[in-house]
Amino acid sequence: MKKHNFSAGPSILPQEVMLQASQAVQELDGIGLSLIEISHRSKEFIAIMDEAQALALELTGLEGKGYKALFLQGGASLQFLMVAANLLKTKAGYINTGAWSSKAIKEAKLYGEALEIASSKDQNFNYIPKGYDLPSGLDYLHITTNNTIFGTQFHELPQTDAPLVADMSSDIFSRSFDYSAFDLFYAGAQKNMGPAGTTLVVIKEDLLQELDRQIPSMLSYAIHMDKDSMFNTPPVFPVYTSMLNLRWVKAQGGLAALEAKNRAKAELIYNEIDRNSCFEGFAAKEDRSIMNATFNLAEGVDGERFDALWNAENISGLKGHRSVGGYRASIYNALPLSSVETLVACMQNFEKNS
Ligand SMILES: *Cc1c(COP(=O)(O)O)cnc(C)c1O
Repeated sequence: MKKHNFSAGPSILPQEVMLQASQAVQELDGIGLSLIEISHRSKEFIAIMDEAQALALELTGLEGKGYKALFLQGGASLQFLMVAANLLKTKAGYINTGAWSSKAIKEAKLYGEALEIASSKDQNFNYIPKGYDLPSGLDYLHITTNNTIFGTQFHELPQTDAPLVADMSSDIFSRSFDYSAFDLFYAGAQKNMGPAGTTLVVIKEDLLQELDRQIPSMLSYAIHMDKDSMFNTPPVFPVYTSMLNLRWVKAQGGLAALEAKNRAKAELIYNEIDRNSCFEGFAAKEDRSIMNATFNLAEGVDGERFDALWNAENISGLKGHRSVGGYRASIYNALPLSSVETLVACMQNFEKNS
């Protein structure tokens, strides 16, 4: 029996997507060859890449608005330095909302001044900083829209004249808002888009400007844009599976429809966390993520029996990140409401018998 998969990443994908992907490994669309044994320059794969890029722009409402979608490699972690290599001339601003933002800052410092404009480190990143002053003349402002480890999320975007750059690895395609507020956003596939191995980068076509530094070809947005993500052999299986998942997202009714479902799941789990005397939420209420719900045991509660309970219910991937402890329920697009209902029932049983 398939488990209730609350893994933070790599994480749950729709069953039908995995079935189609595994069939394509056997044989792609009746062509007598596997997806993974054809040329990436074949008409079949070019059509797959084109569709993946087109769906990424269509779903985010950026079609025809001067953006380009790229499917690259190296994970979100490579974007930490590619962003800076391509965009940082003198100084850039970073809002530090957790481990991933901190890593992005570290890489950017290799290329110029990376100013930490605001940070929530003082409270172990359990909130999103607000009310800070933004210096003028920033080459860009970088945020992490959803903080996978800590369970916080930007619900309002910072107001800035600088180009806005975002790491959206764990909330890409989970909610509908004005994506044109961003000049560049990126996401490692393995949280909400597809299998590990590709990274989506959506970039405004006029963002890149003259730079003094030389950029190696593989790190150059200009080259990847010019070559339509085919400068070198793209990761064909993750791109294909991501494309299937984006078709699924579209068939669900797009981002607004998925957001409604994600909000319903988030409300269910957070209501239980707040109601249940055995648990305490970790993130500040107004900044809670609709993708990763973090919670700890209330003081003096022994969690061993709870762990046995959820394991017996076929729940998987609920352990919190070591820097937060406790539990983290990742409720990505493909996780059904019924899995959250199972978890909530488990939490209620635990409380009843405590
Ligand atoms: C998982 C994650 C990353 C790291 O992604 P890789 O693809 O492993 O490099 C970066 N940022 C966020 C917000 C993440 O959730």
